[in-house]
Amino acid sequence: MTATSQVRTRFAPSPTGYLHVGGARTALYCWAYARHFGGVFILRIEDTDLERSTPQAVQAILDGMQWLGLAHDEGPFYQMQRMDRYRAALAKLLDGGAAYHCYSSPAEVEAMRERQRAAGDKPRYDGTWRPEPGKTLPAIPADRTPVIRFRNPQEGAVTWDDLVKGPITIANGEMDDLVIARPDGTPTYNFCVAVDDWEMQITHVIRGDDHVNNTPRQINILQALGAPLPRYGHLPMILGTDGEKLSKRHGAVSVMDYPAQGFLPEAMLNYLARLGWSHGDDEVFSIEQMCAWFDLDHLSKSPAQFNPEKLAWLNAHYIKQADNARLAALASPQMTQMTQEGAQFADGPPLEAVIALMKDRAATVNELATAAMLFYRAPAPDAALLAQHLTDAVRPALADFARQCTDIAWNRDALAAMLKTVLASHKLKMPQLAMPLRLLLTGQLQTPSIDAVVELIGRQTVLSRLQPVA
Ligand code: GLU
Repeated sequence: MTATSQVRTRFAPSPTGYLHVGGARTALYCWAYARHFGGVFILRIEDTDLERSTPQAVQAILDGMQWLGLAHDEGPFYQMQRMDRYRAALAKLLDGGAAYHCYSSPAEVEAMRERQRAAGDKPRYDGTWRPEPGKTLPAIPADRTPVIRFRNPQEGAVTWDDLVKGPITIANGEMDDLVIARPDGTPTYNFCVAVDDWEMQITHVIRGDDHVNNTPRQINILQALGAPLPRYGHLPMILGTDGEKLSKRHGAVSVMDYPAQGFLPEAMLNYLARLGWSHGDDEVFSIEQMCAWFDLDHLSKSPAQFNPEKLAWLNAHYIKQADNARLAALASPQMTQMTQEGAQFADGPPLEAVIALMKDRAATVNELATAAMLFYRAPAPDAALLAQHLTDAVRPALADFARQCTDIAWNRDALAAMLKTVLASHKLKMPQLAMPLRLLLTGQLQTPSIDAVVELIGRQTVLSRLQPVA
């Protein structure tokens, strides 16, 4: 880009459902590209499909973008609030002869298509109302409101150098005269997109490759409007692990299901960044690094496969890195919920200290919250396990340990050293003492390091839980 042309990208979702993973990836790439060049990222809500658009879906998009931290610089623009702009552009095309009123009824258009299909031709509008030099148009039928059609060029071809797929050429002969306004005057999808991309001075249209077929139509409309053309880049779709198009069958596809499952936004961003783009062999990088590196030269040409295990792996990585207070704030609502089911949240050790100890083992915040409950539940060890581990051979050592707990300096190092001396004097190995201790103190056999667990549980609670053997 030259210094004078600022990068302007847009994310233009239709609010007809949740913000899905594919949409979020598109949004991320548009946003990161604008950020990379110090440009402008625009959010545009394409809500002209009145039957399918809902305010809840708009909110889901805004929530998803906010969770991911993909802030827009302009917008959100709502297409339904821009009808006057589309009408003005329609009038401009009609005036210049690049669009025309078409009075063919839906039944006539259908009959036309039937005839073409029967003759083995591609169904298309036959141009009855298309003005041509020297052509006399039919008489306008009474009581019929026309649609407006775009007078698509019939010769030549539309070519663009796709930023992902390379040069693409579509012959104009492949496209018929698109309806750009319905009988009630409302503009149609491709027309609104073209007008908006023009008026919002979009320089790079980055979107899913389900829109490749719309691009030549939009280019022709932009050219008829006298508008400069943006560059286009079409991202290949995202597949599930079975190679089928990503869908609910593959698990959560709504972005907002991920915070609910305990994923961190930085993990999702890192994952989406790699789902169709690469920077050498880098797998783990921050959003700041992505913005510094992001380009359109390393977008993948082939479909990406959504891999939930890799996302979980990244999430585990970011949980390890995350600030304890932040994780505690994320985990505590669920933990409060779990405490209402019988545990005592308030009496346990400080949550941040528990999180610090446990976060290395969790792939999600939800897992972390569940694991952290270890410290807030009265232990109820399984009797058979207790019988197995709490043998007569270890009871004296446990009693010794409990006795020493009464006046030892209460920190992990001192506790570890004391454990060692108890083991040595009773000629036991660590697991022989650690296992019954774990059972008595937490009710389970799997816990982080026993000295750390003992320290966190606290002197008074440890002593009362060891009472039966002391
Ligand atoms: N509204 C379209 C969609 O949700 C995107 C249009 C575009 O990016 O040009 O798929």
